Amino acid sequence: MSEITSILAQSTVDLGWQREFYRDLHTHPELSMQEKRTAQQILRKLADFDCEVISGIGGYGIIAIFRNGAGPTAVMRADFDALPVEEKTGIDFASVAEGVTPQGVRTKLMHACGHDMHTTALLGCCALLDDLREHWSGTFVALFQPSEENGAGALRMVQDNLKEVMPRPDVVFGQHIGPGAAGTIRSMPGPALAAADSIRIKIFGKSSHGSMPHLSIDPTFVAAMVVVRLQGIVGREIPPSEFAVITVGTLSSGNSNNTIPESAYLVLNCRTYNDEIKKDLYAAIERVVRGECAASGCPQPPTFEYTNHAPLTDNDPEVFARVRSNFDAVFGEDSVDGAPWTASEDFSQIPRAYDAPYLYWMLGATPREQWEKAVATDRIAEDVPSNHMSTFLPDFEPTVTTANKAAATAILTYLAI
Ligand SMILES: [Zn+2]
Ligand SMILES: [Zn+2]
Repeated sequence: MSEITSILAQSTVDLGWQREFYRDLHTHPELSMQEKRTAQQILRKLADFDCEVISGIGGYGIIAIFRNGAGPTAVMRADFDALPVEEKTGIDFASVAEGVTPQGVRTKLMHACGHDMHTTALLGCCALLDDLREHWSGTFVALFQPSEENGAGALRMVQDNLKEVMPRPDVVFGQHIGPGAAGTIRSMPGPALAAADSIRIKIFGKSSHGSMPHLSIDPTFVAAMVVVRLQGIVGREIPPSEFAVITVGTLSSGNSNNTIPESAYLVLNCRTYNDEIKKDLYAAIERVVRGECAASGCPQPPTFEYTNHAPLTDNDPEVFARVRSNFDAVFGEDSVDGAPWTASEDFSQIPRAYDAPYLYWMLGATPREQWEKAVATDRIAEDVPSNHMSTFLPDFEPTVTTANKAAATAILTYLAI
């Protein structure tokens, strides 16, 4: 039995409250920047532990500092916002909550990305480490981050007063649930999640009656050419061994049948695993758009606005090596190699603010039987609900226990005595 396995085995703390706590969060999802109730529930639970709590960091952000003598500082982060998705899981505690988006749209809400599970598990990790104090030394910080889905929460915490109130971390950890056999844990060194940016492009044309196209410079036509040519960038300019995605998520131009409009908008979502490739990709996008506008004789050059930035999540190889050997010891054959995910996260803004090394791992949350059947029939994409889908729901047990223990294992890798 490894050192960490035997430490974890000595905890007799009762985690029975987790099911009710998780159900409560799941039933009461809140949109990014609006997580008032969720933050209150977290604070209420933290009152059970021997820790210093600081709230209201960058909105509803919270840290709980567990000081326990000399030694390094290790931080574990969980996010807690939900999504404008109507829940269709059919469970008896499904959300019927509604909210209003920043654009003023009334919408149904759902914890469709599993952040309710991340938060429940970080509180479980707090309970374990509070109970196991005689086995570790140093400082453990539980960091509860709001507003992940809009990519803003981590940076807002950093830009508020996080650096003044949180001890400087020696290492930072994060985890996320997703499709995969419940109880499994996937970790890897290097790029784990993509860097992402949205680029809002405005194309300037010249308006005219639809019957007189020769008097116009049609921005819809320019935008259509741009959409086609953008897809040639990844195919023709990015090396086949590298990863890049350009998605045109929004294309908007005109609002009548017989008027050629004055301008058109495109909003792109771009993802890479490598900063050099990212530079090349964005340069090529700007070149293609400017070139198409010039080719059509647009009256002024296009504009580019970069938004919703998510940095690359790039796991430190040394942290990976140390933590992974303990994951292997604690979880046995359920600890497996991960592969890079094309999704993105703002998690790494926190370690980046301190230039601290970090590790981010994935947990499977699909009921085992369902997962194994989907693998056997080669129907994962068709049959397994994924994050942000209205049917996404983690298998509470064993997912919560794995998530509790994974967080505690990573922290103890640095703080165990
Ligand atoms: Zn999400
Ligand atoms: Zn998420």
